[in-house]
This record gives sequence, C-alpha cells and structure tokens, in this order.
Amino acid sequence: MHHFQYRNGNLYCEEVKISDIAEEVVTPFYLYSYATLSRHFTVFDEAFSKLPHIVCFSVKSNSNISILRIFGKLGGGADVVSGGELYRALKANIEPKKIVFSGVGKSRSEIEFALKTGVLMFNVESEGEMMVLNACASTLNVRAPLSFRVNPDVDPKTHPYIVTGLKENKFGVESSDALRLYLLAKDLPHIEIIGIDCHIGSQVTELEPFVDALTQLKRLVFELKNKGIELKYVDLGGGLGITYDREEPPHPNIYAQAIVSHLEGLNYTLILEPGRVIVGNAGILVTKVLYTKRHLEKNFIIVDAGMNDLVRPSLYGSYHTIQPVEKRDREMIVADVVGPICESGDFFAKDRVLPDVKSGELLAIMSAGAYGFTMASNYNTRPRPPEILVKEDKFFIIRERENYQDLVRGESIPQFLL
Ligand SMILES: *Cc1c(COP(=O)(O)O)cnc(C)c1O
Repeated sequence: MHHFQYRNGNLYCEEVKISDIAEEVVTPFYLYSYATLSRHFTVFDEAFSKLPHIVCFSVKSNSNISILRIFGKLGGGADVVSGGELYRALKANIEPKKIVFSGVGKSRSEIEFALKTGVLMFNVESEGEMMVLNACASTLNVRAPLSFRVNPDVDPKTHPYIVTGLKENKFGVESSDALRLYLLAKDLPHIEIIGIDCHIGSQVTELEPFVDALTQLKRLVFELKNKGIELKYVDLGGGLGITYDREEPPHPNIYAQAIVSHLEGLNYTLILEPGRVIVGNAGILVTKVLYTKRHLEKNFIIVDAGMNDLVRPSLYGSYHTIQPVEKRDREMIVADVVGPICESGDFFAKDRVLPDVKSGELLAIMSAGAYGFTMASNYNTRPRPPEILVKEDKFFIIRERENYQDLVRGESIPQFLL
C-alpha cells in the first residue's frame, strides 16, 4: 500500500489531504508518512530474521529525532558519523549498545563522547584513528570496541560522488592492509577487537557489489580467525537503492536472501546500516509555484523551495518525480522547475513534461525523505523548512520552520564595528 496517493484528484499522505496541511503550514515543507517509515523499517528488519542482526539506521539520511524514535521503538539502532548525530540518536532514546560510530574523520572529542556513551563499536578507518581511539580509551580507563572499515574495492556502479568502496576513495582501510592493522590493534591495551565493517556506496541497485563485498569480508574474517582474532560482528553498511525514476533495485527480501545465505550457520551478528531504502520514499517536499515564465527557448516554473532545501538535483543531478498536489485537466508543457536561489544550479527538474501549473498551485517533489532535510542549508539566508509527520488522519510538526532570529543566532558585531 502506497501512502502518497491521489483521491479524487487530490494528493493525500495517508488520510490527510496535503492541500489541507498547506493551508496551515506555509510552504515549502517536508512531509513524512509514519506508516511508510515503519513499514519500510519492519520489512527490512524482518528480511534478516534468520540471523542475529541489528538494523542501525543511517542517521545522516534523515536525522529528525522523531523519525529516529520510530525506528528505535521498532528495535532499531543507529549508524552515526558525528558527535552531533550521536547526540540526536541519544535524544531519540536509541540504546547505546545499538549505535555504531562510522566516519573517516572522527575528532578526539567525538571519540570521547562516544566512549562515555558506551556505543556498540567504532568503525575505524585508519591506523591513526586507531591510535587516537586507544589513547582516548586509556584516558577514560575503558576498552574501546573496534571494527575496521575495510575498503573492498568493488564498484557499486552508482553516481561517482556516492561511491565509497573503491581503492581511490578516502574511506576505510585497504583490504590488503587489514590483517596488519588488526594484529596491531590486538596488542593495544585499550582496544577490544569485535568486528569488521564495510560500506560500498549509496543508491546501489544491483546485488552483485554487496555479495562481492561480503565475500571479501568473509575471507578476512577467516584469515583473522587463523591468527587467533575472533570477531562478533560483521557490518555490511548501507547503500541499497530505491526507485526515484525507473531504477529497479532488489527488494530488501532479495537483498537479505543473498546476504543471509553467506552468513547462515556462522556465529556472527550482522549489522546493517540502511538509510535511503528506509526513508527515501517515505517523504516528500511540498512547494508552491510562485511564478511561471515563458522564454523563447524554455518554460520555467519558479517554486518557493530551493536548492538550499533539497540539494540533490543540484549536487548529483538526481531525478525526483514532481507532481501537482491537485490534479486538474491541463495542457502539458516542457519546463524547468527552479527555485529562488541566485544560482543557475538551483533546479529540481530540467526539461520535464509537466502540467501547465499556475502561480499558487502546490507541487510535490517525491522521494525526498533521504538526504533531503539533512542536507538543507541556510544559503541565501533562507530559513530551513519545517518537517511534518503524518500518522493516519493527523499531522504533527516535528520540526518548526526556522525564523530570522534563528538565522543570526550566535553572530555578534565586534566592539570596533559598533
Ligand atoms: C551514508 C552511509 C550509510 C547509509 O547509506 P544509504 O545509501 O543511505 O543506505 C551507511 N553507512 C555509512 C558508513 C554511510 O556513510
């Protein structure tokens, strides 16, 4: 059951008519469906039911604390990549023992915060980080749970900006170097080796790269075992793609089957770090048409959302379906959908066939639940939009729109300028 659907030509989110929300909340705004979020999480989680596993939701894909809370209540953990994300996960009451800390550039203070929190494990990405982790743990007189993020050098065949597991990428330790690093870690008094990790990239729509990566991890796991290093956790990262346009990614059940068959009967807890696949299609960005322009060569639909609100089209050239919130009989035109930001890169669609919408009409930019709000900025000093969660026939503002005071908070004018 799809929870963003038309009824009598009006787009609904669950039981709520989206145009009704727009009467109360000024556009643009992000809108999420609770039913979709919880179903996506549950389907993914249950797909792995044959194995001991933890679904650590990737907080960077959508970090609203209400959203994290949904997954936490369903038994989920969190994959965090900064102290700020750890703070959010804790605010959402995610159990520390279900939080993994990833990221290529963890600072000392972030490491200390995570050690004090007692996170499940640190996915360490360099020898230097391992040494800092050991030193921080020594200061706090604890042992830091470590797994190395190994770069398996597989090509996930996705957008170059979101490939992370190739030799030339900055992420992880090289798999040829992993054994040496584990042996070093073994001798560090404040390190406890517990796992191995990888994350090959994002919006991956084929199974093969995941299976290749897992095969490599397994090979390392056995090599380590031969050296007397027993692991408890195998973390396969996130990256499963979704349908934005015509992609046909494997269903989580198929993805899970492929993975489970490689780990069944072995005594490891599998960790998964899905982001996009859980939240991507559970959220939309609702925006209003401000103006329309017909130039000789092009039609423009100028909307009140901008690249600061949803940067994916500008940053990656990503495709998002755009549809009117109220369907009417209209001529179709070819147009660019653009925002108010003073940049030519500020667009949501180029040369798109769309109904000839008029000023004041609402558009829904679909599949905006992942890397939408979390990548929003204040560029052009624009307040970031509110986030709204729909559950059945009710909606809840889970983050207010910023106001102008928010935008200058923390700034001050030095004495000599007064
Ligand atoms: C971004 C990221 C994820 C989530 O990726 P998705 O493509 O959204 O599933 C998981 N793990 C790590 C380490 C990441 O950086």
